[in-house]
This record gives sequence, C-alpha cells and structure tokens, in this order.
Amino acid sequence: MLDPLSLAVGGGLVGVGWVCGRFGHRRRAQFGSKLRARCGCGHDLALHDRAAGTCHAQISRKGTHGLREWVGCNCRRYNGPTPLEEMFASPILPPES
Ligand SMILES: [Zn+2]
Ligand SMILES: [Zn+2]
Repeated sequence: MLDPLSLAVGGGLVGVGWVCGRFGHRRRAQFGSKLRARCGCGHDLALHDRAAGTCHAQISRKGTHGLREWVGCNCRRYNGPTPLEEMFASPILPPES
C-alpha cells in the first residue's frame, strides 16, 4: 500500500540521486579538463620524451633572414601535471634509505 508520505520520500530520493549524478558528472568533467597534461612550454605531455623529458614539438620563429624557421622546442623537462592514468601506470618505487 502506498501512502502519500512514502511516495514523497521515494520521489525525493530519486531527485537527490539525479542531482548528485548530474553535478557529480559535471564536476568530474571539469576536473578532467583542469588536469590537461600540458607542460609549461605549452605542449602536450605526449610531445615529451618519456625517458629524457625533452620536448619534441616544433615551434616556428623568425629566422635571421626574416623567414620563418622551425626549431625544436627548447624545453628540457616536462613540468606540467601528471595525468591520473600515468600515476597508476608508473611503478611505485620504495623510498631510498
Ligand atoms: Zn615542455
Ligand atoms: Zn615544448
């Protein structure tokens, strides 16, 4: 048997769940965009060498004769945020004593 009170409580719970799901999803999306793996040089983490950390991106600049020339980014080490999947992928090393 359904009385008006339990109906209202049930409806409220559904509403709360809906709101939580909606806002939780939105917050997650925002968090993800904030964690774009971008280095201080402005290039993506994917453009950086995994081992050496140097940037492989090419940037255009004005050359000596007024012509545009492409030079490699002089970034030596990726200093942007580490994406979550990278943290989980990297092995956790024991602290050196
Ligand atoms: Zn860089
Ligand atoms: Zn770069």
